[in-house]
Amino acid sequence: MVFKSAQIAGMVYAILSLVIVTTLYRKKKFNRKTAYGFTVVSIIMGFLVFAPMLPWQMQSLLLGTSKQIPTPVATLVLVIFVLLTFIFSRAFCGYTCPIGSVQELLYHLPLKKFKINNRIVPLVIRFIVLPTFIVVAAVYSIGILKEIGLKDFFFLTITAWTSLIFIALVVISALVYRPFCRFGCPYGMLLSLAAIKSRFKIRQNESCIDCKNPKCVSVCPTGEALSTSNKMECYLCYRCIEACPTQGIEYGRDKKP
Ligand code: SF4
Ligand code: SF4
Repeated sequence: MVFKSAQIAGMVYAILSLVIVTTLYRKKKFNRKTAYGFTVVSIIMGFLVFAPMLPWQMQSLLLGTSKQIPTPVATLVLVIFVLLTFIFSRAFCGYTCPIGSVQELLYHLPLKKFKINNRIVPLVIRFIVLPTFIVVAAVYSIGILKEIGLKDFFFLTITAWTSLIFIALVVISALVYRPFCRFGCPYGMLLSLAAIKSRFKIRQNESCIDCKNPKCVSVCPTGEALSTSNKMECYLCYRCIEACPTQGIEYGRDKKP
C-alpha cells in the first residue's frame, strides 16, 4: 500500500513534536519562544501538507473515504494519540494540531478577550456535537468538517458559502480562546476525556503559596488552572506557568488518585 508522503510527514511530525514538547516541559525547558515555534511550524504543516489533521482523519474513517491511509493504520494513529493523551495531556492539541495552532496564535493578538471559562457549557455542547458528528457521517455520509470549510481554509479555497463558517471561527479565535477546539472538535472531545486521567499534567507544586487572587487562575483561558480542576480543557498553553510569581505551577506527574 502506497502512503502519500504528506501523510507520512504529518505522522512523523506529530510524534516528534509531541515527544519534544512534553520532554521540554518535563525538564522545565519549555518557554514562550518554544511555544511560538511549534505553533508556527504546525500551522505551516497544515497549509503545506494538510497534516497532521487527526479530526479530519476521524471524519474520513467514518465516511469511509480514508484513501491515502489504510483504515487499520488510520484507526491505529487515532488510537495512539488518545493513548498518548492518557500519558502526556493534550500536547497534541496544544502544539501539534494545525487547527488548534491557528486559533492559539490568533488569540495572542492584543485585542479585548471574551473569556468563557464556564466548564459545563463547552462540555454540554461537546456531548451534542460528538454524537451528531458520528451519526451524520456514518449514517448520512455528511462530513461536517468538510461542510464548514476546514479543508477549504487550509487549501485557501472557498467551495461553498458554508466554507466561511470555519473562517469565521478562526476570526473569532482572536477574541475567544479556541472556539473550534472547545466547542466543535469531535476528536478533541475524545482527547479531553483521556486528559482527565493523564499521567502528566499542569499542577501546583510545593512552591504554590495559595495566593488570594491566583494569577494562574486569572490568566487561564479555559478555567483549568485551579488545583482541583481535572485539566480536560488544558491545552498546555503555558500562561499559568508564566504568570506564577513563585514557580508554584508546573507540568509534572499528577499526584491525585
Ligand atoms: S481540539 Fe481538535 S482541532 Fe483543537 S487542537 Fe485538538 S484535535 Fe486539533
Ligand atoms: S493557563 Fe495553564 S491550566 Fe490553563 S489552559 Fe493554559 S496551561 Fe492549562
